[in-house]
Amino acid sequence: MLKDQDRIFTNLYGMHDRTLAGAKKRGHWNGTAGFIANGRGWLVDQVKASGLRGRGGAGFPTGLKWSFMPKESDGRPSYLVINADESEPGTCKDREIMRHDPHTLVEGALIASFAMGAHACYIYLRGEYVREKEALQAAIDECYDAGLVGKNAAGSGWDFDVYLHHGAGAYICGEETALLESLEGKKGMPRMKPPFPAGAGLYGCPTTVNNVESIAVVPTILRRGADWFASFGRPNNAGTKLFGISGHVMNPCVVEEAMSISLRDLLDRHCGGVRGGWKNIKAVIPGGSSVPLLNAAQCDDAIMDFDWLREQKSGLGTAAVIVMDQSTDVIKAIWRLSAFYKHESCGQCTPCREGTGWMMRVMDRLVRGEAEVEEIDMLLDVTKQVEGHTICALGDAAAWPIQGLVRHFREEIEDRIKAKKTGRMGALAAE
Ligand code: SF4
Repeated sequence: MLKDQDRIFTNLYGMHDRTLAGAKKRGHWNGTAGFIANGRGWLVDQVKASGLRGRGGAGFPTGLKWSFMPKESDGRPSYLVINADESEPGTCKDREIMRHDPHTLVEGALIASFAMGAHACYIYLRGEYVREKEALQAAIDECYDAGLVGKNAAGSGWDFDVYLHHGAGAYICGEETALLESLEGKKGMPRMKPPFPAGAGLYGCPTTVNNVESIAVVPTILRRGADWFASFGRPNNAGTKLFGISGHVMNPCVVEEAMSISLRDLLDRHCGGVRGGWKNIKAVIPGGSSVPLLNAAQCDDAIMDFDWLREQKSGLGTAAVIVMDQSTDVIKAIWRLSAFYKHESCGQCTPCREGTGWMMRVMDRLVRGEAEVEEIDMLLDVTKQVEGHTICALGDAAAWPIQGLVRHFREEIEDRIKAKKTGRMGALAAE
């Protein structure tokens, strides 16, 4: 279990003072100018050496992403954009950082911006996060007053401004290029890639988009050392990580733990276990709504990191763990996600616009058992036609949960169809 002294987010539950004075007491904003004095190359190397992989879902190495930014400006400014849209169902980890430990993010934003040659950082905040906006803006204001951001930020000689932008609540604006469009004042629709944001991002300028947690952990990595961070987790899965656990556990929570912790330890130690005991587990979505679920047998051995979950045809995603016990109508649960993705599709590419609605409608019939058994394969086929054939990952996100459902619970879907035909529909499924 991660020791208290190894926790990066020491005010995750809002038990302590979240103001600048409180943050400084907990060690934040300590030696910031000194890190910057070591230069851009050193900072990028430290982040690379720490093994930090992006905490927003894709798990791309953060230091490598930073290194894509131009070393010399061609006259265009560079920007850091922090993705605080956090709209993936089940995910609520960045919110705890912003409302209870916001200085970790502001300090990280300064260091990361310097490392990328950016004098400005935009934080794009989810529309529904009103309290988080207040807390974060208060932290930014304190930093301006104290000279930690603004001209000669924190005495580093680097001029740095940070702007908080409040979104309007569309899920798709969490996709990095849709986020940039929205930030520019346009409709939040994903852009074709290439060009990638590091070449032409915000206002056509070099931009890196990073998740809140990825940026907020950087100052502590520098203070404690890249080796310290890399000492947690299996190789290629380094660090500590915020896990957000919801669903059928005794105590749902957000907790910082070492990467590669077993699912069972995570649930037993921090959530009081699964409702009705471990044997009562039916399925777990390990990384937010877009990743395929794990069945009970996989849960027994599950290791919560990028590589293990990918090998199981699932993913760590945002580490939002949704636990479902035996009482769950798992077909209905996945139908609900299908309805969500259908609602959130921006509609600019046909496989997603048409496919998400099509998949949702078939899922709706599967919930009621009003389908033919052959339609299960047809549905699977459609998910394959959507997956990988769209501009952004929303198409994949809509397809994967259904693929996971069919992979692990085909029998249950077939039973329901047969039961409907013979009039033996169970009470739960008939609702
Ligand atoms: Fe829009 Fe869906 Fe295409 Fe993404 S995949 S660009 S959400 S239509």
